[in-house]
Amino acid sequence: MSNLKNKIIMITGASSGFGKETAKMCVDLGAKVVLGARREDKLADLCNELGSDSAIYKAIDVTSKEQMHALANYGIETFGRIDSLVNNAGIMPLSLLERGRTDEWDQMIDVNIKGVLYGIDSVYSHMLERESGQIINISSVAGKRVMPGSAVYSGTKYAVRAISEGLRIESSGKIQVTCIYPGAFKTELAFSIKDESMLEALMSRGIGEIAQPAERVAESIIYALQLDPGVSVNEIVIRPTAQDA
Ligand code: NDP
Repeated sequence: MSNLKNKIIMITGASSGFGKETAKMCVDLGAKVVLGARREDKLADLCNELGSDSAIYKAIDVTSKEQMHALANYGIETFGRIDSLVNNAGIMPLSLLERGRTDEWDQMIDVNIKGVLYGIDSVYSHMLERESGQIINISSVAGKRVMPGSAVYSGTKYAVRAISEGLRIESSGKIQVTCIYPGAFKTELAFSIKDESMLEALMSRGIGEIAQPAERVAESIIYALQLDPGVSVNEIVIRPTAQDA
């Protein structure tokens, strides 16, 4: 395992959940972090807590290619390089297709797929030039199976899986690629479900009771970040022990 000391790690979706917990652990382990999300107040509070020598942020929307590049450039200008990108920002407004919530489908495609692609684009040439770097994409167990209500969300997370595999093959020998598939963990993600019947259906399946702390997923991200550059763990599936699907 390599040390995270002085590693430069860019994390999207760092204002809550997995992104926030990962940022905290990275700084505890000596890394410097470049954080992005839309809620500036949350990012500012987090960077104050972590210290401005170790943590910088920009309020960005991952659906904007320009804003994503601005975040990466800010990190490179401030710290000299980006060693690792954690492509984590995502939303999950589940609903049955028959409800026709097409605005939410558009949003999921924009954030969960295009956001990941723009994240890759923002650091890829920088990493290829240096023949070194790491990209960790956050998919979901919904990227391996589909449930009623998850058709579009799963579609976006299957896409993250395909993009990760394509990236792995194309960047072989230069960049470490990991795709992480979490099950149910306690974050703000469920708040993005606006279809109340879907939220009720999810809760009636006991997901709220079995969901585990976000730190457990952050630990798996840290594990991937600490790998020796000579190896890549390409996939990590992490569920609560009590989650059967
Ligand atoms: P949270 O809702 O706590 O965090 C999501 C993060 O994404 C927030 O920081 C949010 O910040 C950011 N975000 C959302 N939309 C945008 C946008 N347009 N531009 C920039 N940032 C954005 O949920 P999680 O921590 O759970 O989610 C992280 C990832 O994990 C997601 O990709 C999710 O799909 C995935 N996942 C989560 C699971 C879970 O059980 N929690 C299970 C499987 C996968 P802001 O609102 O400030 O922009």
